[in-house]
Amino acid sequence: MKTITTLKYDRQYTTVECTTCKAIIQRRKDKLKYYNPFCSEVCVQKYKDPKQFEIMSHKDTPNFNYLVGLICTDGHIGYPGCTKTTTTYYCNIKMRDGDLLEGIQKIFGGHLRKEGKNGIQKTWRVGNIDFVKYLQSIGLTNNKTYNLNADNYFKHLSDKNKTAFLRGVIDGDGCISITSRKTNGMRVGSYICSASKSFITMIETHFNNGVLTEVTKNQQNSYKKDIVATGSMFYYYMNGNRVVENLRSIYDMQNDELYLKRKYAKYKAIEAYQNSK
Ligand SMILES: [Zn+2]
Repeated sequence: MKTITTLKYDRQYTTVECTTCKAIIQRRKDKLKYYNPFCSEVCVQKYKDPKQFEIMSHKDTPNFNYLVGLICTDGHIGYPGCTKTTTTYYCNIKMRDGDLLEGIQKIFGGHLRKEGKNGIQKTWRVGNIDFVKYLQSIGLTNNKTYNLNADNYFKHLSDKNKTAFLRGVIDGDGCISITSRKTNGMRVGSYICSASKSFITMIETHFNNGVLTEVTKNQQNSYKKDIVATGSMFYYYMNGNRVVENLRSIYDMQNDELYLKRKYAKYKAIEAYQNSK
């Protein structure tokens, strides 16, 4: 009886290599006809979307740090235990700027899908465990908005990567505005907002070359202040010449670097206006 079972086993199963990690696995012969053999779901994903498993190899590039800046403001991470129902590691960014998300997908892999009926919103998503753990290590949590503190991460970046990170932050939660005034000329301005005071303070300290001004709750004359707290939000305002100065530093980039076109166009308009004065 025992001999027959073994025989049956040998007929149906064979030893093969996992297509991705080359581990030796047993597979039913009839299942091998049409599919590549894989040892696990992770190896299936690595085969289908190898780029997203190489995200961490970009760690020291401006595009990687731009992505981190965008995630700090407009992204979301999840990991087992962060909510009662979360069992996987993931990171996503939901925004209207589909072309930017496509640019991100081209470099870092991941999935892109349209949200809702009209598909104006798009979501980019990756399930790379190492990447999500890295984001956790630099201060992001599932509830990042209130307690985000990326000081230690930011401090150790090269100047190039710092500006790429800040460009991601502005593209995520920043505002660049140029509006014509009734009386004289245009009004230009830019601000970055966050629910995390330490995050906004970090950004202000960078742009002020380490000089930190006090946080004010007084909205009157807010254009004279750097950081203004309103409700549960903190705003870092750039005004006058500093707008162009700060924005020029974050838009000093190479051809292949990521940025949001509509905000870049506003920066160019502000620069042209300041130069014409
Ligand atoms: Zn495998």
